[in-house]
Amino acid sequence: MTGVRSVDAVVVGAGLSGLYQLHRLRGLGLTTRVLEAADGVGGTWYWNRYPGARCDVESMSYSYSFSPELEQEWTWSEKYATQPEILRYVEHVADRFDLRRDITFGTRVTSAVYDERSRRWQVDTDTGESVDTQYLIMATGCLSVSKAPEIPGADRFAGSIHHTGHWPHEGVDFTGLRVGVIGTGSSGIQSIPIIAAQAADLTVFQRTPNFSMPAGNRPLTDAEVAERKADYRAWRAAQRTSHSGIPRPLATRSALEVSDAERTAAYQAGWERGDLVSIIGAYTDTLLDKASNDLAAEFVRGKIRAAVRDPELAETLSPRSFPYGTKRPCLDSGYYETFNEPHVHLVDLHRTPLAEITERGVRTSDREYAFDTIVFATGFDAMTGALTAVDIRGRGGVSLREKWGEGPRTYLGLAVAGFPNLFTITGPSSPSVLSNMIVSIEQHVDWVTDCIAHLREQGLTEVEATVEAEDEWVAHVEEAGNATLYPTADSWYMGANVPGKPRVFLAYVGGVGVYRERCDAVAADGYAGFRLAR
Ligand code: FAD
Ligand code: NAP
Repeated sequence: MTGVRSVDAVVVGAGLSGLYQLHRLRGLGLTTRVLEAADGVGGTWYWNRYPGARCDVESMSYSYSFSPELEQEWTWSEKYATQPEILRYVEHVADRFDLRRDITFGTRVTSAVYDERSRRWQVDTDTGESVDTQYLIMATGCLSVSKAPEIPGADRFAGSIHHTGHWPHEGVDFTGLRVGVIGTGSSGIQSIPIIAAQAADLTVFQRTPNFSMPAGNRPLTDAEVAERKADYRAWRAAQRTSHSGIPRPLATRSALEVSDAERTAAYQAGWERGDLVSIIGAYTDTLLDKASNDLAAEFVRGKIRAAVRDPELAETLSPRSFPYGTKRPCLDSGYYETFNEPHVHLVDLHRTPLAEITERGVRTSDREYAFDTIVFATGFDAMTGALTAVDIRGRGGVSLREKWGEGPRTYLGLAVAGFPNLFTITGPSSPSVLSNMIVSIEQHVDWVTDCIAHLREQGLTEVEATVEAEDEWVAHVEEAGNATLYPTADSWYMGANVPGKPRVFLAYVGGVGVYRERCDAVAADGYAGFRLAR
């Protein structure tokens, strides 16, 4: 469709964030248009269809809480649901709340320009459709712009190349093939055992080994589903006030205060529970104190040595260059054991770096490897990539890309000074990727919706973060991050995975409960730190 249409709100993205934002804005009576590059809903769960893709936050917690009816109707089948099941859930939500009629699919937003006189955004797309809107809400995702390995030659490879972050809908059959996988983050670690089970020969190219633990995935029993459903409201309330959106008893002691036997037992219990925070959260200082962290890291390295028969291979798979948990830990199903298979090989890129993709396969500094198929499990331009991919221009024509040239600057991760009536869902400097994201998504969407409701009730037309509030928030986020071990790792949390990206800690470590209190206090104080205009 071409031509300009006028609405109250444009939401960019139809993942978990965009869908809930649409639902809430409809509730306020706003005319809303969602623009989505994909041909369907789901965001992450639409694009990441690689084998083994699942959530790593338990399904019964990684789901919307806004509708008690939805929560009762839907029944998750496994502890950690697969991508197809999560996509079915998101599609069910879209249908149940009749969301699709306000979504334009197959349409990528290319630019958004704020007109100071009309106080409206003009949003342009790659299909020629333009939309004129008062509010612009970027629900574009923290992990939605995939990145390839930074080596030449992908276009000359004679076989097929697939990125985990935009996997073919029809799937990929690896049976009998020679396969190369580049990348050992969560996507690589989830997919490698399954690819290995099909492939004739699998070579994994590892730059940095990661800490992973068995997910302990299994079907949920009727009894546990019933128990959680009976108590869902209380559980949701606990999620909202917790640190990570995953309620658990808080640790009270340092790992350095307890005996070796007690500590090992605590780590072992965490290992057997198989969740992202079970070892990190065993002691108060895992992410604060290197000596404490070393104990957790060594526990996991011991598990790697126990799982991998060849001691040299086990050492190559053992992370030593960053503290445990400062790169997102992974949950797996048989990852380390896969390397005991005779047809699975590991290439340590620290010893022999990648050089290029050739017609036949991959060349490192010492030799060429021939493949039928190559998988890039090389991650994303996280947190800022989807926002700076759009040419967003605020007051005075200033571009967001330029403003963020030395790293993102936001107020609360929700708004940007100089960019009125623009909101970012789980934007940089909010807890976002350090949390169970759906908890953070719902909190942001609710806050944005309440803010817009307030503006309308008061007859206000413009809301904009002040530079002072933004500066104060950026400084607070940096200070909080610097009190932890996170900045010591070359992680995507630090922008370190994308060459040339400024090294800035991209999320807020304060925790979702504390952060929610801060956002609520800002609203209760008449949107302190925002300039509201009539
Ligand atoms: P997304 O799901 O990324 O959706 C953003 C949408 O915006 C996409 O559909 C994209 O196409 C669209 N878009 C972007 N730019 C434009 C544009 N310019 N124009 C039009 N459309 C655009 N988090 C957890 O908490 N627990 C998990 O277990 C978990 N597992 C994950 C597994 C994988 C493989 C990945 C990649 C991420 C995972 N995450 C997980 C994080 C996950 O991204 C969030 O939980 C959540 O799904 C994000 O929803 P969203 O709607 O904010 O963003
Ligand atoms: P990632 O964690 O960034 O991992 C990318 C991998 O590719 C890393 O091993 C990286 O090495 C490697 N790599 C990147 N560029 C390279 C290059 N040029 N040469 C060689 N190696 C290169 O990406 P991801 O695995 O897609 O995961 C991203 C995030 O998405 C996760 O942290 C998580 O938040 C989410 N996710 C969750 C799940 C889940 O379990 N539910 C699954 C997938 C993703 P370096 O470490 O050296 O950079």
